[in-house]
Amino acid sequence: MERIDSITCIVQRSESDKAVKAALNAGTQEWMVENRFLEVANYVKIFIQMDKLYKGIHKFRESYFRQERDFFSQLSRNQSPDVLFITCSDSRVDPNLITQSKPGNIFIVRNVGNIVPPYDSIKDKSSVGAALEFALLELKVADIIVCGHSNCGAMGALMREEGYFLNMPNLKDWLRLSSPAMDIVKDCHPACSGEDVQKIIEHENILIQLENIQTYPFIFDALKEGSVALHGWYYEIGTGEVWSYNTITEQFDIITRPEEKHG
Ligand SMILES: [Zn+2]
Repeated sequence: MERIDSITCIVQRSESDKAVKAALNAGTQEWMVENRFLEVANYVKIFIQMDKLYKGIHKFRESYFRQERDFFSQLSRNQSPDVLFITCSDSRVDPNLITQSKPGNIFIVRNVGNIVPPYDSIKDKSSVGAALEFALLELKVADIIVCGHSNCGAMGALMREEGYFLNMPNLKDWLRLSSPAMDIVKDCHPACSGEDVQKIIEHENILIQLENIQTYPFIFDALKEGSVALHGWYYEIGTGEVWSYNTITEQFDIITRPEEKHG
């Protein structure tokens, strides 16, 4: 065994968590697991990340779940959300948190860039289509919200050069669905740059998805008969503000308390 550090240990995988705890306490720099040398920094990072989640699960069950046991018992039998919420996979966007909703209130679809592929283009990649069908036809939601957000990595990627996508062909393909947003910036806002461009793309992308969603026949029909309403939202991460697209003024208006709206 090669000695890498003052404290070098050989551990079996089953023992690794316990051993890493010991290593953390001892300040070990490198580690050996099943005869493979691993940088302890990486291993410890994974351990700490998972440990945080395990602690979270424990805390959830011991506190929130325990207090809401009846609520969860009721939820375990069925769901009847009123809202379909389509948003980005971004870790900073939490639909339940920003709307202060409880489990069971909103049916959520998340993907990179809060994209709804047009009906004709989905064919074999119909995960969003499947969610739309289930939400509308089975759960019969009354509202559909497409919620974009500030500092969106997906929208930022639209401005990147071809080389950026070299190892990410799926991302490149997927974001092509939002490329009309970039075209609008080039055609209508040629003088804009930097953060302004990013925000315009993020806004335009929401509007594109609101159009795409209407290409699904059952949604088009539901909108026509008024059984469902469509909303375009924009979440500003740094301020906590949520803006809603106003189809009359064609602007995003900040969402305020209902009584503030009416003075
Ligand atoms: Zn995003």
